[in-house]
Amino acid sequence: MIEFIDVSKTFDSVCALRRMNLTIHRGMTTVLIGPSGCGKSTLLRLIIGLIRADSGTVAFDGARIAQENTLSLRTKMGYVIQEGGLFPHLTAQDNVTLMARYLKWDGGRIRQRIDELAGIVRLPVEDLDRFPAQLSGGQRQRVSLIRALMLDPEVLLLDEPLGSLDPMIRAELQTDLKAIFARLKRTVVLVTHDMGEAAFFGDAIVLIREGRIVQAGTVEALVRSPADPFVTRFINAQRNHLSEPGGERA
Ligand code: ADP
Ligand code: MG
Repeated sequence: MIEFIDVSKTFDSVCALRRMNLTIHRGMTTVLIGPSGCGKSTLLRLIIGLIRADSGTVAFDGARIAQENTLSLRTKMGYVIQEGGLFPHLTAQDNVTLMARYLKWDGGRIRQRIDELAGIVRLPVEDLDRFPAQLSGGQRQRVSLIRALMLDPEVLLLDEPLGSLDPMIRAELQTDLKAIFARLKRTVVLVTHDMGEAAFFGDAIVLIREGRIVQAGTVEALVRSPADPFVTRFINAQRNHLSEPGGERA
């Protein structure tokens, strides 16, 4: 459903992606993992059309993502950026309904969708009257999720959605998120730098290093037949997380 063909992206002198080839399959959860700075967020930004590739093609359902179709494609994608990215001067409710109001949904339809999603992400609807600063980190991420899901997108792009949360809240949201993915059956692309989280969520795992895919496959394949010594080093460095999805980070 989403395809990267020979995609390169350079910022100033930094090469973020080097001739990347990747297929993201419909209905699956694909996890992008790798050390900080390896290009994970850049990949998501290319999919949502916030930035353009220097060379190569990024395609959605066979159509090249370009200036002309970025806006229409964006309504098919929900995006949770690193640290949530809620507008601080808007209430949670105004944050989540921004796009629906822009698209001129009527009030009843918006209300119904909010109620439905608040149930799905397990957020008390009263919390939506608050401003982001008045919510806990976990609540803010639930609000970010409602915002991303508001237009019932085909694809959900999540950039380290649990990265800033403390371990217990994180474990709870991991479990909830997995239930949400199973229920909605959407295509999910989730970024993390935590192997335990990758193993917990990923139907497919894509390990990236310095803008290149080192190996793509299941966790088992990465453990049993590493394509490169880096795969084993990366996994071993986080080994104690593999058996406990909510495990604390070093
Ligand atoms: P990750 O999400 O894996 O931590 P990123 O995709 O954010 O990594 O960044 C990949 C590389 O590109 C890093 O070296 C980062 O510093 C650089 N980079 C990303 N965005 C920009 C930007 N807007 N301007 C300059 N450099 C950038
Ligand atoms: Mg990032």
